Amino acid sequence: MKLKDSRLLRQQAYVDGRWVDALSGETFAVCNPATGEEIVQVPWMAEADAAAAVEAAESAFVKWRKTTAKERAVILRCWYELMLDNADDLALLMTLEQGKPLSEAKGEVIYAASFIEWFAEEGKRAYGEIVPSHKPDTRILVSREPVGVVAAITPWNFPSAMITRKAAPALAAGCTFICKPAEDTPLSALALAELAERAGVPAGVFNIITGNPKALGAILTGSEKVRKLSFTGSTGVGKLLMAQCADTVKRVSLELGGNAPFIVFDDADLDRALDGAMASKYRNTGQTCVCTNRFLVQAGIYDRFVEGLAARTAALKVGSGLEPDVQQGPLINQAAVEKIQAHIDDAVAKGAEVVCGGKPHELGRTWFEPTVLKNVTTDMCVAREETFGPLAPIFKFTDETEAIAMANATEYGLAAYFYSRDLGRCWRVAEGLEYGMVGINEGVISTELAPFGGIKASGLGREGARQGLEEYLEYKYMLMGGL
Ligand code: ADP
Repeated sequence: MKLKDSRLLRQQAYVDGRWVDALSGETFAVCNPATGEEIVQVPWMAEADAAAAVEAAESAFVKWRKTTAKERAVILRCWYELMLDNADDLALLMTLEQGKPLSEAKGEVIYAASFIEWFAEEGKRAYGEIVPSHKPDTRILVSREPVGVVAAITPWNFPSAMITRKAAPALAAGCTFICKPAEDTPLSALALAELAERAGVPAGVFNIITGNPKALGAILTGSEKVRKLSFTGSTGVGKLLMAQCADTVKRVSLELGGNAPFIVFDDADLDRALDGAMASKYRNTGQTCVCTNRFLVQAGIYDRFVEGLAARTAALKVGSGLEPDVQQGPLINQAAVEKIQAHIDDAVAKGAEVVCGGKPHELGRTWFEPTVLKNVTTDMCVAREETFGPLAPIFKFTDETEAIAMANATEYGLAAYFYSRDLGRCWRVAEGLEYGMVGINEGVISTELAPFGGIKASGLGREGARQGLEEYLEYKYMLMGGL
């Protein structure tokens, strides 16, 4: 398979409107997880490269913040349309570097573009207000201003969407932006930069730096010139970056790990619950922070749910993301295979039963058999840790109070799902769940229209929706006197 537009495959970083190498000249390989083959080399940048990007973003901010929201919207709209025009190429690049099935990659490209479309418009609505004053000869004015230079550090599981849902509101608000994508998936990020340039995003406004995470992260979090960090990734790294931002009192948005429960009550529509379960569990081969990590199923429907989920799971087509109809691509790396195997082994040692799957797939490399476990109990690792793979552990509960308590018994609070046809229960459970997002009779909840984000150790801040713009705006209060 070949790209229609070969210029979307970039091998240099993008800083200040130029394609650049690392100052050291060093590079690193980007590999295809389905074959292990090297796709290309990209720059292995370090501190001095990051500092140059910060300088570029700082000087570009002077002009960009003065553009009108409408001028920015025109450029963002153009970027959005270029993403759609090039969706096939962007999807192919994503499948090559990340492994997800091509149809899912295309879905992500369209989802990623939707944030640019949304925030192009939403940027026009960064309204201030005039507040009734405390003194007759004064007026209180509150305006909104861009926070300044924004740094983003993004993960490999959504190589495109995790960038646009930060970059689009930042640029719409008048901020300039530097992103360090994950080492596994820099090519989608660089393709976005190519399209941003074609759309007319001025030099220095959108920058992509690739390379050494610690070195680049140290500058992005340590620089006084960077006024905000937006991070999506693991809770451990998120805590570290938040601490690194403390010295310069930066604003931070964090979208971290999850441990999503998926509760099925006896009164649920079983077919609907199974549809939702499959979509929630196996998207991106289980490698999303909102993927179900624990199925909690009421005793009366337990056996039927286990049987239904196992039948559907066993029917999933596993293979290379480039093959038609494949639903489960390879895992991102060997460590991911080891983690899922360790979770299965721990559960089985403590009494769980493998209903289907349970071991590495015969395709080899990082493919793993989609797995269903029953008779899972809360003393097992899967109760507490995020597996981030195609493993469906099914716990049993007896009543609503127990279900809510089990669901909340985690440090995380990102997404939760439940299925019930009882209206009163729907309200009680939705309100009882300590989560930032709740799917009620729905297994897929992400959209640019709604605020995405978590509570507790799952993070701070929201992405998408009108709240997503707030993250990139400051308030300024002006008291006008002597009237
Ligand atoms: P995952 O476990 O999903 O790979 P990580 O939190 O390790 O999640 O990675 C998310 C992003 O954070 C990636 O871009 C990665 O390069 C970056 N990252 C990892 N460690 C650090 C660090 N010490 N400083 C800055 N960025 C880091």
